[in-house]
Amino acid sequence: MAADLFINICIVVTLVFLYMKLRWRSAYEDAYSLKGVLIDGLSGGLMGYILMIFSIQVTDETILDLRYVPIMLLILFVGKTPASISSVLIISSRFLISVNRSAVYSIFMILILFIGYSIIEKLLAHHGDLMTKALTLTFFSNAVVTYFLAVLVADLSVVGPLAVTYWLISTLGGVSAIFLVDYLKKSEYLFSKYETESSRDFLTGLYNVRRFDELWLMTSEKVKRTQGSLALLMLDIDHFKSINDTYGHASGDSVLIEMSRIIEAAVGNEGTVFRKGGEEFTVILNGYDRSGALSLAERIRQSVEDTAFSLSEETTIRMTISIGAAVYPETINETKGMIEKADAALYESKNAGRNRVSF
Ligand code: GH3
Ligand code: MG
Ligand code: MG
Repeated sequence: MAADLFINICIVVTLVFLYMKLRWRSAYEDAYSLKGVLIDGLSGGLMGYILMIFSIQVTDETILDLRYVPIMLLILFVGKTPASISSVLIISSRFLISVNRSAVYSIFMILILFIGYSIIEKLLAHHGDLMTKALTLTFFSNAVVTYFLAVLVADLSVVGPLAVTYWLISTLGGVSAIFLVDYLKKSEYLFSKYETESSRDFLTGLYNVRRFDELWLMTSEKVKRTQGSLALLMLDIDHFKSINDTYGHASGDSVLIEMSRIIEAAVGNEGTVFRKGGEEFTVILNGYDRSGALSLAERIRQSVEDTAFSLSEETTIRMTISIGAAVYPETINETKGMIEKADAALYESKNAGRNRVSF
């Protein structure tokens, strides 16, 4: 008997884990869409049905299991709409297992559980830690299930020992399920936050060098394979050091931020912009030839030249940038040396008097 209920815990843990792994990434985007609500509702219903298949047969007509768990989890972590879809599915699929008094009583049991969860969730929404919520919800579930068990079985010598085992195992299963969802949700959130932060530059929000290296490797390999074309721009702010020296490091930072927005706006969806470090930027232009790269580089250079950078309400300054470009296969016949080639071209722009584009 305890072993059968223990199988219910194993099912809960396994299915919750699988579900969170498959669903959580997209759960951010479509939690409130019709599709999201349907997926959550159907998954909860399916889990309830599987739990009922592995239930304890108490009498000919009555079965005992943890079918309340998916409804409880959905109300606590997702919302009432998917929870109500799951409830309807669990109520209906109980009749697939057997059609009798127990199945009819299960309608009322699920309804009471659903209403109870909604009230508890509302009452404890702003008070109470997760343990309080978990214990309140599972104790409430146990009480409701035990009540229906007692009404249906009516033999206290059977119900008594069964209820003790049920309370122990159901509490363990319910609380574990709640903590598992909470844990997976938090770790998934932290993981995606880490992923974003590790690819972005902290100051400007542009992609960083790490991301550049990854994307450059991927893009250049693909361009070589498909015999496409590829341009790389290296940008460096002219005399940037003097901004720091004259107006201070904080003003230098605000110029870097504003400069990032100008470059981004000039590039648009045509390519990807990175902060290479310091006051240097790179732009990857997939599918660009020499003339396309030249006009885009000129567009960036011109919009920087045309911008008055405001350092304070009274002070605005003018800035320029120098750009070096390498284009495969027009100016270099291998993608491998493109970074060095663009760097050399940038050096040329600097030597030739800055505020220009060189190949
Ligand atoms: P050039 O025209 O030859 O490129 O001259 P430059 O002054 O722009 O170049 P240089 O390499 O001599 O100086 C770059 C300066 O950028 C030095 C450094 O203090 C400054 N810098 C690098 N990173 C940051 C940053 O994150 N914030 C600020 N405010 N300054 C930075
Ligand atoms: Mg520099
Ligand atoms: Mg510079």
